Amino acid sequence: KAKESSGGNYCFYESGMDFKSLDSIRLESDLNKALQNDEFVIFYQPQVDLQNKEIVGVEALLRWNHPTRGMISPLEFIPIAEETGLIVPIGEWVLKNACKQIKEWHDKGFPRVYLSVNIAAQQFNQKTLSSLIQQTLHETGLSSEFLVLELTENAIIQETASTLCIMKKLKELGIRIAIDDFGTGYSSLGYLKNFPIDILKIDQTFVQDIVQDKNNAAITNTIISLAQNLNLNVIAEGVETHEQINFLLSNGCSFMQGYYFSPPVCKEEVENLFLSSKKI
Ligand code: C2E
Ligand code: MG
Ligand code: MG
Ligand code: MG
Repeated sequence: KAKESSGGNYCFYESGMDFKSLDSIRLESDLNKALQNDEFVIFYQPQVDLQNKEIVGVEALLRWNHPTRGMISPLEFIPIAEETGLIVPIGEWVLKNACKQIKEWHDKGFPRVYLSVNIAAQQFNQKTLSSLIQQTLHETGLSSEFLVLELTENAIIQETASTLCIMKKLKELGIRIAIDDFGTGYSSLGYLKNFPIDILKIDQTFVQDIVQDKNNAAITNTIISLAQNLNLNVIAEGVETHEQINFLLSNGCSFMQGYYFSPPVCKEEVENLFLSSKKI
């Protein structure tokens, strides 16, 4: 039985079997070759501190420059990379190259920003993560105080005992740990008291309409207070408007990231932002 999907691609369906479009099968095999063909590009999005009006960090966001399709969003290929296990070598590539880039910026005299890198659940649960981080910092010469790992709640809820052990090892290296998309996962708040977490990132779905939506305003404020009470830093994602900035500032959150300041951009554009960063 063949069924037409909403995208207009044919899917072949047999009972008891997941159906995959030809398109996603092709993408999967292309993804397999993307690393060796050098098709990945790292973009960087600034994280700003409105208190001092400066860029304090950058988040590495991966882009896939597909030979025939052009730029593909990570929302499309990261799930495939996770499904196939390719996220492990891809994630390692991102970590190494982004650390190298940040160190190069520091050495060139650009602001000494930190690097925030997304770590997938599968990468986190590789028992070798802390040695990979240690080796990467050693090879690139980047000091650990400039590295933040962004984990999602879903990545850390799986096995509490080993999660705590991995996190402690990471903390011993001197890096910081952020919870990405905070408040959207399936975890309890209990982990906040056990795990050595440094930063909460308020998910953009809460931030997007804080000004219009009372519930999102309440959730955002609660996350800010929670972070303050637990002595954690808090950063708002997806900040696009001046109204959102005012709201966040008046409620005690001065770290922000979003299109209002800059979308994720290529490394040359980051350098331009550094040079003009007085304008934030
Ligand atoms: P994320 O880590 O939560 O990253 C934030 C996403 O929000 C990015 O999407 C960013 O471009 C977007 N964004 C930033 N500011 C705004 C804004 O003001 N408005 C709106 N509407 N969006 C904004 P992007 O780059 O498409 O990445 C999507 C997701 O893909 C990331 O979400 C992250 O979960 C994943 N991802 C990206 N790069 C990597 C990577 O190297 N490794 C892993 N494991 N995941 C990655
Ligand atoms: Mg992130
Ligand atoms: Mg996020
Ligand atoms: Mg996200």
